[in-house]
Amino acid sequence: MNTIAASTGLLIALTALAAAEPHVTVSATSVHPGEPVLVTITNIDQVPRGKAGGQPLVFFHARDGYQAVFAIPLGINEDHVLIEIAGGPDPVSLAVANKRFRETKVVVEDEYANPPEAERTRIDADNRAISASYDKATGELQFGRAFRRPPGSTTSTFGEWRTFNDGHRAQHLGLDLAAREGARVPAINDGTVALVIDTFLAGNVVVVAHGGGISSLYFHLSKATVREGDAVKRGQEIGRAGHTGRTTGPHLHLSVHVPGGMVEPGAFMKLRIAPQKPAVVGAR
Ligand SMILES: [Zn+2]
Repeated sequence: MNTIAASTGLLIALTALAAAEPHVTVSATSVHPGEPVLVTITNIDQVPRGKAGGQPLVFFHARDGYQAVFAIPLGINEDHVLIEIAGGPDPVSLAVANKRFRETKVVVEDEYANPPEAERTRIDADNRAISASYDKATGELQFGRAFRRPPGSTTSTFGEWRTFNDGHRAQHLGLDLAAREGARVPAINDGTVALVIDTFLAGNVVVVAHGGGISSLYFHLSKATVREGDAVKRGQEIGRAGHTGRTTGPHLHLSVHVPGGMVEPGAFMKLRIAPQKPAVVGAR
């Protein structure tokens, strides 16, 4: 083969590579702290590699390629987040707008507002166990249908600032839904029970791993009715509503965790996550 033929062959190969450049779609162009973002990659035949805000994206197989969900952290200090896909087009810059969350005052028993030293150790251990359970949510999606919000009107929104009776402030990392004591609490989608734990602040907690790095958390249950490792279906009871832990009365606290942090559950459920194999219509 002469040199001209060889370089022509190389040119053709390069053109083919360029044509196969992955196509990147991002669910938003502007976001605020606590918002979830969905990245969709099509026109690619291998698992993409990429980063958002410098953190690796957790890709899963989706209907037309791959997707990844990540959180804009509540404590973010940047005014933009860069999404970079290896071998892909130029990085996508997502503008991060400021968000002023609601301020509320909460009065709870002193023990909960200002926990004694022994309880602080327990709170740290509770938090570590919950964080560790997120590792069980990695891997392919365990659901084929959309997420479904549990019933009950919203009594407290995600991200609001709470000032407790002792003066300390904390941000609310979930959605509070009205629920009677003992009401059945449904899983928001198919998944595997990653953790069942009795905690100091959140009371009885169930964490469900859904794959794709997505976990749902249910707090203040009067009791859990599933065990770690159980497979659950969307709508299946995982426990009963209650007022265990730091609460002012019976309700369901729902949190959604994705890589990068907790996200607003309502916004999360609007993401167009497209599972590879949608469930057969009519099947449960
Ligand atoms: Zn809550």
